[in-house]
Amino acid sequence: MSLQDKIKQLVRPEIQALTAYHVPPATGMIKLDAMENPWPWPESLRAAWLERLLAVELNRYPDPSAQALHAVLRESMGVPAAASLVLGNGSDELIQMIIQTVAAPGRVVLAPEPTFVMYRQIARVTGLQFVGVPLAADFSLDAAALRQAVEHYQPAVIFLAYPNNPTGNLFDAALLRELLSLAPGLVVVDEAYAPFTDASFLSELPDHENLLVLRTLSKMGLAGLRLGLLAGHREWLEQIDKTRLPYNLGSLNQATACFALQHKAVFDAQAQQIRAARSELEAGLRGMPALSVYPSAANFILFRTPAGQAGAIFAGLKRAGILIKNLHGSAPALQDCLRVTVGQPQENAAFLAALGDLL
Ligand SMILES: *Cc1c(COP(=O)(O)O)cnc(C)c1O
Repeated sequence: MSLQDKIKQLVRPEIQALTAYHVPPATGMIKLDAMENPWPWPESLRAAWLERLLAVELNRYPDPSAQALHAVLRESMGVPAAASLVLGNGSDELIQMIIQTVAAPGRVVLAPEPTFVMYRQIARVTGLQFVGVPLAADFSLDAAALRQAVEHYQPAVIFLAYPNNPTGNLFDAALLRELLSLAPGLVVVDEAYAPFTDASFLSELPDHENLLVLRTLSKMGLAGLRLGLLAGHREWLEQIDKTRLPYNLGSLNQATACFALQHKAVFDAQAQQIRAARSELEAGLRGMPALSVYPSAANFILFRTPAGQAGAIFAGLKRAGILIKNLHGSAPALQDCLRVTVGQPQENAAFLAALGDLL
């Protein structure tokens, strides 16, 4: 049998149908494509961090329960005392663990779309059906369509990114609460962009036993670290934690996260700077009448170019050394759409200048 035939025979059809998650090279570019915090750590902090790492015993396995890190995270993120926590190698891993916990033939994962692509990707890889419910034209939730889909599909899990990626908006909180009471299964509110908004469902965890809140340290400024947290009802999390590989968080990861969170004020100040820069960037984009700009509660802004021009504008920015995200073609609702991450003020200015030249 040829290798091709063997692959066709052995690899699950849903895996064959997937395209791998693609990350474009960005060496030497102004990188405004991936919602990273643009600010490096202050020099004094780096030195103290390296000092801390010297004490890590790499010949030993990491603490599988990550006790010290749990305590620091609870305190710094304001996790309600009644809620439990599970930690993951990035929140992507937690999305995978949630889906694995409920995976069985015929089960459905549901999310409004367009949204974070990993919900669909992981559901598919895990062998579940994914149902995307289109957002309204202004990217708000389509309440009637959602109620109907929840009723019809009885989803095991509903994912709601709050604020949503790639649209940047916050969904209506009252409607989210209604979904929490309608849903037959789990409802995951994904707060990856929590540093850039005051809205959160964390404090509502004690009110809803099917609510899980997902957070990550990535967008706050530790994307290279890989650490996510899932907060929710103890009895749900006890089950989800069984799908976790025992040493999913390395010792360097745990020590670095503990250190960083003890200096969370530095990251909070950076988040405030990013919020201020977001307003300036938005104003700059709104000053270009050819564009439609969508309001954002996150560290990126979605905008729509004149019909048929997104590809050329994206390529023109790239030639000017600026990498953003081209969403045209990724979903019907994102036709002609580009997404820019908020960078340092001079990066945002360079982006706006280059964009102005291309319009
Ligand atoms: C970026 C992002 C994540 C992924 O976060 P990691 O912790 O880096 O895996 C999760 N959810 C949403 C909505 C995101 O935009």
